[in-house]
Amino acid sequence: MMLQKSSQFMKQANLIDGEWVAADSGKTIDVINPATGLKIGTVPNSGKAETQRAINAAAKAFKTWRKTSVLERSKLMRKLHDAILDNQDALAELLTLEQGKSLAESKGEIGMSAAYILWYAEEARRTYGDVVPSPWADRRILVTKEPVGVIAAITPWNFPSSMLARKIGPALASGCTAVVKPATQTPYSGLVWGSLCEEVGIPKGVVNILTGSATEIGGEITSNELVRKITFTGSTEIGKILIKQAADTVKKVSMELGGNAPFIVFDDADVDRAVDGAIIAKFRNSGQTCVCTNRFLVQAGIYDTFVEKFAAATQKLKIGNGLEEGTQQGPLIDDKAVAKVEEFIADATQKGGKIITGGKRHALGGSFFEPTVIADATPEMLFTKEEIFGPVAPIYKFQSEQEAVDLANDTQFGLASYFYTQDLGRVFRVSEGLKYGLIGVNEGMITTVEAPFGGLKESGLGKEGGHQGIEDYLDTKYVCVGGL
Ligand code: ADP
Repeated sequence: MMLQKSSQFMKQANLIDGEWVAADSGKTIDVINPATGLKIGTVPNSGKAETQRAINAAAKAFKTWRKTSVLERSKLMRKLHDAILDNQDALAELLTLEQGKSLAESKGEIGMSAAYILWYAEEARRTYGDVVPSPWADRRILVTKEPVGVIAAITPWNFPSSMLARKIGPALASGCTAVVKPATQTPYSGLVWGSLCEEVGIPKGVVNILTGSATEIGGEITSNELVRKITFTGSTEIGKILIKQAADTVKKVSMELGGNAPFIVFDDADVDRAVDGAIIAKFRNSGQTCVCTNRFLVQAGIYDTFVEKFAAATQKLKIGNGLEEGTQQGPLIDDKAVAKVEEFIADATQKGGKIITGGKRHALGGSFFEPTVIADATPEMLFTKEEIFGPVAPIYKFQSEQEAVDLANDTQFGLASYFYTQDLGRVFRVSEGLKYGLIGVNEGMITTVEAPFGGLKESGLGKEGGHQGIEDYLDTKYVCVGGL
């Protein structure tokens, strides 16, 4: 029953210049449901040639798409927003099938996708330029904004729908055209954007989507002169490669990369609120988000209470197939992710970490893993520096406010951070001290379309969401009108 609803949205082909096509070689890649280990379907295993054709199609479509009025684009985007919400249940089911997260989280993600499209349908009409007072009596200074041209987007498997919404939204709004490569593990929630764009009448070639070899598609995208901007969400490691590759043709780059989020609980915090926030900031999507807490830093006076209450709340999480009613935690994406989590836990226990709850594979088997809390964490442990991307919560003890800020900042990353306190002065001191692009004060989940999302340091370049999120899709031009 369920499969039927979502399967009508399951496109197993590339969308290039308005045609749904197979890879040139005819080769495919299997797509696996991480909750069952079973194959759901296949997608094309495309490479350089298909990518070139997609870029050419986008470049051709750009010539006319850029000339559409903002009102026209905005109207199409509103239709796209409605189409997403009209099919929210089926799209959520498709997402859970290939990604594993609970249906409730998938519905939330699809809702977020729709919200990004609506936000940029609105922002499309506000890409103002300037008329600047001129130093010359006979000349006028105009500053205008124009779409950059063809953009290419590469997205990860943890938010296979909404990470595309953040990129397709500003692209469509600004008048850019797009070539999109979704993650191989979760291609259907990416390809379905093609069906939805078609359904609402977005012209062919404006959005092209293809799946396949990351290095071949990525190589062509980064080297092709027609692509003027690359927007990537994924690991810092791959982000660095793409920045280097894009340098040869001096493309704009937007990078949403890894994180190492600290979650600081001060002695004066409302501990129950902190525990609620900690659960969501750690275990959303089974810990597989770039804003998930990597390190809990807890002040000595509240440490024991927090550990006890947080572990108790962790034990209550319901693990299961995301499609089952009431599931809060699905499986990890694959075996590799489980092996990484096991490595972190083995390293921590060997260095004196104490497992309070969890610590091993879940009885459900496959890539299910028990939500895990480890107390007595120390800086020597691997997860102090590395991104966990799984359901493991290490807890460190600190004494002073300054020590907490220093520990929090002692990483190459700077994406999300959280802290809990009821002291107003501390709210300002600590927010100003944290080198992070996103800061949740007494809140464990803060992402929203209206606010700029993006990291500092090696967590990224540029912003997505907010009015800032469209800037990278626009070129600023200065026109001097003289001889008046
Ligand atoms: P994750 O750890 O979340 O899988 P990755 O950075 O490996 O993060 O992947 C994010 C996206 O980048 C995926 O769509 C993946 O296929 C793509 N990708 C991986 N390697 C490359 C590469 N060398 N060039 C371009 N894209 C890549």
